[in-house]
Amino acid sequence: MSERYLEVLYPTYGQYFEVKEVLFEHKTDHQHLIIFNNDHFGRVMALDGIIQTTEKDEFIYHEMLTHVPLMAHRSPKSVLIIGGGDGGILRETLRHSNVERVVQVEIDQSVIDMCKEYFPKHSNGAFDDPRAEIVIADGMDYVKQATETFDIIISDSTDPVGPGEVLFTNDFYRLAKARLNDGGIMVTQNGVCYMQLDEVINTTKRMGALYQDQTFYTSAVPTYIGGLMTLAWATDDTTLRQQEVADIRQRFESSGIKTRYYNPELHKAAFALPQYVRDAIDAI
Ligand code: SAM
Repeated sequence: MSERYLEVLYPTYGQYFEVKEVLFEHKTDHQHLIIFNNDHFGRVMALDGIIQTTEKDEFIYHEMLTHVPLMAHRSPKSVLIIGGGDGGILRETLRHSNVERVVQVEIDQSVIDMCKEYFPKHSNGAFDDPRAEIVIADGMDYVKQATETFDIIISDSTDPVGPGEVLFTNDFYRLAKARLNDGGIMVTQNGVCYMQLDEVINTTKRMGALYQDQTFYTSAVPTYIGGLMTLAWATDDTTLRQQEVADIRQRFESSGIKTRYYNPELHKAAFALPQYVRDAIDAI
């Protein structure tokens, strides 16, 4: 069986995947979830018609959204993950032996269940790690009610439509900051800057007003079409981005973590933004 799967994120531009076989398709309580096989990318998951993750290139996004903040922070012990139901961020976070506790808040139990079944390597057992607590809830409700604070917050959300929309609001950024320890870092999935420059502008206005140091870093993820993926970075510790590559390398090597995309040179270089992105930020 072979059919085409069209991604519908942009009205006049998109990508298509050949669907070799549909493995799972269901309208959950929150979104339309489909998992299928593609000859090039392996298993692919889409939510509400938007590609979220693939077996083949997931490492790029998950390594960059996790290791940049965890390596930049000098001693992260606690991490809050919002979204991330496929388990890739949890897997990478738990590779840091200094991390003692992770709370992951995912709105959709079905995403976790189906990803455990169809993408076992994404979480690689991380959901069963005793350091991890999984909370099924809206990330916004969690940050409203929680009292615990964390060294790192990672928002691995869908795009700002549907259930993920609240995770890009002033209120979410403000409430999330209250859950951050002094010197903590928050990073978020922030779209593809060429296609979604408005997301860079909105986040700069909303998150930038709250932190001493708010910017973006980038990574190139083939399945997120349109160029560089932008990841938002926010902290009140202005020294964290000034660290030399040698310092990051020393921490990286002593961690023993082996990566396929992330390395300390790329960590540093990822903060160099294209001029059109800098101009858009400067014009605010
Ligand atoms: N890496 C993907 C991307 O950039 O396209 C996103 C990963 S996907 C695992 C995002 C997850 O966020 C989904 O599992 C979805 O259910 C979850 N999510 C969406 N809105 C949420 C909310 N308000 N609170 C918690 N989780 C949410």
